[in-house]
Amino acid sequence: MKTIRVFIACLACRLSRFLIRLAGRGGTAMPGKVALRLYPGLLAELGKNVQTVIVTGTNGKTTTSGMLRHMLDAAGAEYFSNRSGANLVSGITAEFAANADLLGRPRAKLAVIECDEGHFPAAVKALQPKVILVTNLFRDQLDRYGEVTHTRDCLARGIAEAKNAVLCLNADCSLTASLGMEVPNPVIYYGVDGVSSDHEANVSDAPHCLRCGERYAYARRTYAHLGDWYCPRCGLRRPTPALAAKTVEASSSGSRVLLARGEKETGLTVALPALYNVYNALAALAAADGMGWDFDSCAVSLAGFNAAFGRMETMKVGGTDTRVVLVKNPAGCDRALEYLASLTEDVMPVFCLNDNVNDGTDISWVWDADYESLFAQKSYERIGVFGTRAEDMRLRLKYAGADDGAVESYPTLDALAEAVKSAGKPVVVLPNYTAMLAVRDKLSTIAGKGRFWE
Ligand SMILES: [Zn+2]
Repeated sequence: MKTIRVFIACLACRLSRFLIRLAGRGGTAMPGKVALRLYPGLLAELGKNVQTVIVTGTNGKTTTSGMLRHMLDAAGAEYFSNRSGANLVSGITAEFAANADLLGRPRAKLAVIECDEGHFPAAVKALQPKVILVTNLFRDQLDRYGEVTHTRDCLARGIAEAKNAVLCLNADCSLTASLGMEVPNPVIYYGVDGVSSDHEANVSDAPHCLRCGERYAYARRTYAHLGDWYCPRCGLRRPTPALAAKTVEASSSGSRVLLARGEKETGLTVALPALYNVYNALAALAAADGMGWDFDSCAVSLAGFNAAFGRMETMKVGGTDTRVVLVKNPAGCDRALEYLASLTEDVMPVFCLNDNVNDGTDISWVWDADYESLFAQKSYERIGVFGTRAEDMRLRLKYAGADDGAVESYPTLDALAEAVKSAGKPVVVLPNYTAMLAVRDKLSTIAGKGRFWE
């Protein structure tokens, strides 16, 4: 009976996917939804014989999943992954169905699955993953999930569904680290030891001790609420990471890291700029370790990983070196602005802001991001703004100290593309999600084949 239900659900999933493709559409949740409607237990059935690593958290899911795939590619392993970013239960189910035969037998024994925080409990319950990786927890998409502690509790509920899963957790994020504190699961903590930011972070998403409510103190901060945190009242503190970046030498193209794994120290090259990508690399290595993959080969392979879809990619647009960095919340935006401030070359920044449904229609978060510190360090001859909320963006930049005379607003994608082509210097585009899709589409058409990860 079960076999028949699996058969019908898988068939329906494939058929609806085929029909949707035939109609010239892609990226829909329909096939997975249809399959789950026919057999709610389908994902659990399909996941039974697959070793899965689930990646969740606010920032870095896509990059970290990309790193894990890169490790498996380098090792020649067979696996599948929801690389389209369809990270809700419906999309994950469709991915498993696409990689199984009609009797539900998997085509590969390994899966790298990126999962939305809200869908995490259901996905974990069904898949019983071998490894759960949580990258970090920041305030994000408030209109969807409310407060960040709510998201944390949601992840805790998911973890309770898989008591044997190895947890890989960011020790520097107090919210994430707390997920490993009162559970029977084995935990691999990772963190950055060798970086200390001297300015007081202005985005504090987790100021108070989860146990007693006291304000956390920090022996050292890396960025935002991440760092060597502790509670001065009850003594709750950052767990000692099993995997730690002892030193980080940053350049605009990447970082050299001295990596400590227990007693052993090795050099690690992260071929993506900015400290958050050091965190992503540590996260991916912790997960690889939890999966039991060859650690040293995985670490070496990371040097060859250099772009994730939209998160940070480079292309040549009519002769102009163009970098696109996705920003979707204040913490992520602050990282991108730090990256911008760290560049020694003269560049033209272009800030793009849309308020479509997929962006979360509340764009007030731009007022929480620290544009002030960018303009305290830098001035630009030309600054571009674009998007359905370009004028709000211009206003935000003006308040942050940008020279209003330098700001150009582009009414169309064509105007934006022309400005990029004729910039005469490298351009860094910082779009939010739907703006990124539109801008990337336009610029990559001009650029032809760029250096894309996908
Ligand atoms: Zn406390």
